[in-house]
Amino acid sequence: MFVSIEGIDGSGKSTLSRNLKRKLLELGRSVFLTHEPTDGFFITESEQKNRTAENAIELFFRFTTDRMHHQKIINGELDRERIVISDRYIHSSYAYQGPLMEMVFGGMDGTLEWMMSVSRIIKRMPDLIIFLDLEPGRTTSRIAARKGRSGFEDPDYLKLVRTYYQKMIGSNWLVIDSTLPVEKVTAAALEAVLARLP
Ligand code: C5P
Repeated sequence: MFVSIEGIDGSGKSTLSRNLKRKLLELGRSVFLTHEPTDGFFITESEQKNRTAENAIELFFRFTTDRMHHQKIINGELDRERIVISDRYIHSSYAYQGPLMEMVFGGMDGTLEWMMSVSRIIKRMPDLIIFLDLEPGRTTSRIAARKGRSGFEDPDYLKLVRTYYQKMIGSNWLVIDSTLPVEKVTAAALEAVLARLP
């Protein structure tokens, strides 16, 4: 089973990934924890902060190429019957790069259509997407408190990112309010994973 953990910056994805892995290990399950982009991926701070459509499209292709490599690793682990948990996967690309491309592809619908069409080369999709939902203003204050600097991504951009996530929510998504206590977030995620295990 392949689970991806999604959400805007500071929503607690990494904490949940670790906690979920620990709980599943305690239940005797074999787990592989991974993240996107993969370790080999390189992005400069100026590329990350560049909000042009051209840069977003370039990044989209680079993240997609990285994912082509990543899905092979994931497939290998799934073949070994391990539960794979990925801290971010394809929906991060849709949510983060999408809002910046709208001028080129004609709004959210046209942009999602284009990104999904390119992403047909990605065959491995998550069985379950856990979306840690959080209001952008709260995220940045948490990050600022944690990292001692003001904001990682700006709240206005993160609001757009969140609208993409919200648009994509479907039947294999679990939405968790990330302001809940961490034990409750973990318990909700664990329950959803266990319910889907064969
Ligand atoms: O996973 P983490 O929260 O550390 O991600 C850090 C940043 O990576 C995000 O804030 C976002 O700017 C960027 N990112 C992205 N597109 C992706 C994945 C990550 O822009 N597909």
